[in-house]
Amino acid sequence: MRHIAEKLTAAGIGKVWLDEPLANHTTWRIGGPADLLIQPKDKASLLYAVQLIHRHNIPWSVIGRGSNLLVRDGGIRGAVFKVAEGLSHCEFKGEEVCVGAGYSMIRLTVEAGKHGLTGLEFAGGIPGSVGGAVYMNAGAHGSDLSRIIKEAEVLFEDGETKVLTNEELKFRYRTSLLQEKKGIVLEAVLQLRKGDRKAISAALASNKDRRRQTQPLQLPCAGSVFRNPPGDHAGRLIEAAGLKGYTYGGAQISEIHANFIVNRGGALATDVLTLMEHVRTVVKETFGVDLHPEVLVVGEG
Ligand code: FAD
Repeated sequence: MRHIAEKLTAAGIGKVWLDEPLANHTTWRIGGPADLLIQPKDKASLLYAVQLIHRHNIPWSVIGRGSNLLVRDGGIRGAVFKVAEGLSHCEFKGEEVCVGAGYSMIRLTVEAGKHGLTGLEFAGGIPGSVGGAVYMNAGAHGSDLSRIIKEAEVLFEDGETKVLTNEELKFRYRTSLLQEKKGIVLEAVLQLRKGDRKAISAALASNKDRRRQTQPLQLPCAGSVFRNPPGDHAGRLIEAAGLKGYTYGGAQISEIHANFIVNRGGALATDVLTLMEHVRTVVKETFGVDLHPEVLVVGEG
C-alpha cells in the first residue's frame, strides 16, 4: 500500500494517509484505521486515484464527513476515499444550485438562505456532506433530499460517470440507489424556490433551537442510531423501555435523546455495538418491535 500512497502523493492529488485512525474522521470519534485514506483535492484527482486503485485491484470504500458511520475497531482494509472539502464547489443559477459532493449540508442551507431560496431549511442541522445526504436521502422536519434534488453525477464501480435523475436515484426513507449499486457521488443539482429571506432564516433558527433542546450536541455522536419503525419513533420506544442513560464502556444511551448514543470519552465501536444489541433485545421483548440501524456499521471487528 505504501507505494500507492507514494504515487498518489507524488501526483499531488490531495491528502493521503497510511493506517489513519478513522476516529479522526467520524463525528462519533470512534473507528479503527484505514489502510489507505485518500482525500482528493478535486474531481480530476479523485478520478485519477480511483483508476489507480482499480488497476491494483485494491478494495475501496467512500466516506463523507463521517456523521452516520460506525467504523469497527479493526478499521477498514483497502482504500477509503474521503469526499470532503476538495469536491466543494457551489454555484447558484436562478432557483438551482449545483454543488460538489463534499460540500457541507449545513453550509449549503445557510448559502441558500442568503440567496433567498427556500426548500433546504429542513437540513439546517444535518452535519454531513452533500454526497452523504444523497446516499442516505437525509431528512428531517417532514422533508428529505428527494424533495429537492434534480439530479446527481455519480462515478460507478465500472469507471463510468453518469448523471442520474431524481427518479433514477430511487429515493425512499433514508435510502437511495447508492445503497444497492456502489458508486461515488461527485455533485448534485438541487431545485429550490424563491422565498422570503426573513422566513427562511426564521425557519433555520427555529430548527436549530429545536435540535439544541432535544439532541446531545455537546458530545460526539452520529445522530439517530435506529430508523423510525412505521408509525412510531425509535427514541420513544427506547425511552419507554427505560433505557435512557444506560451505559456500556465509554458509550451511553443519551439522557437527552434516547435514539442517540454518545461517546462519553474513549468509547470503542464494540461498546456502541453492545449497546445497540441491548436496545434491540429490550425493545423487541417489551414492545415486539424490531429496530433497524440507521447508522451504517462498516469495517472489521
Ligand atoms: P458519512 O457518514 O461519511 O457516510 C454515510 C454513507 O454515505 C456511507 O455509506 C458512505 O459510503 C456514503 N457516502 C458519503 N459520501 C458519499 C459520496 N460522495 N458518494 C457516495 N457515497 C457516499 N441524518 C438525517 O437524515 N437527518 C437528521 O436530522 C440528522 N441529524 C443528525 C444530527 C447529528 C448531531 C449527527 C451527528 C448526525 C445526524 N444525521 C442526520 C446523520 C448524518 O448527518 C446524515 O446521514 C448525513 O447525510 C451523512 O453524511 P456524511 O457526509 O457524514 O456521510
